[in-house]
This record gives sequence, structure tokens and C-alpha cells, in this order.
Amino acid sequence: MLPINMDTMLGIAGEAYDAVLEKVPSDQLAKRWINTIARAVQEFETNPFISYRTQDNTLIFWSHDTTNGIYEVTEKGCECKAARKHQPCKHAAARKLYRRYLETAQ
Ligand SMILES: [Zn+2]
Repeated sequence: MLPINMDTMLGIAGEAYDAVLEKVPSDQLAKRWINTIARAVQEFETNPFISYRTQDNTLIFWSHDTTNGIYEVTEKGCECKAARKHQPCKHAAARKLYRRYLETAQ
């Protein structure tokens, strides 16, 4: 489990919601991104199998309760089914949130 202060993370998620509402032109897509961000935040609270490799800024995410896939998310993105279909992906959302978290914590 990554050591995360959830109050800080929820603040970052709130900023991410605002950014989605501001930037995503389609309401339907905005709604899906917001759901995806919420699911990513929930993973930080409940999934003990998320880690972060600082050498190459990679989030390693084991979806032990769903697909059982291990996803290594880099700046190039994620390789899960959703991401391959260019759909909102919670792994990439989690990496982005965590990167912002690290910046905020500094
Ligand atoms: Zn993914």
C-alpha cells in the first residue's frame, strides 16, 4: 500500500474533477472520466498492491480483484483493455493523481 494522506489525495482528485469539467467537451465523456478518477482514488484506499517506481516514474498496479492483470503504467500510458481502446483507464488516472500527489508533497 502506498503511504498516502487521503485528505491530500481527495483535494487533488477535486482539482482533477474541475479540470475534466473545464476541458472535456462532451458531457458523457466528462462523466466517464470523473467516474474513472473516483475509482482510481478508491483503489488507493483499498488496493494494497499498488506501488510506484521512482527511477522511471512507473506505477505498478495489480488488479487482484478484477482482471488479475498487472499493469505497469508509464508516461506513455497503460496497456489494459480500456486504454488500448482509448477509453478512460483508472490505472493511468491513478498514476496521474499520484504524480500530482508527489509534487504536492514536496
Ligand atoms: Zn489501464
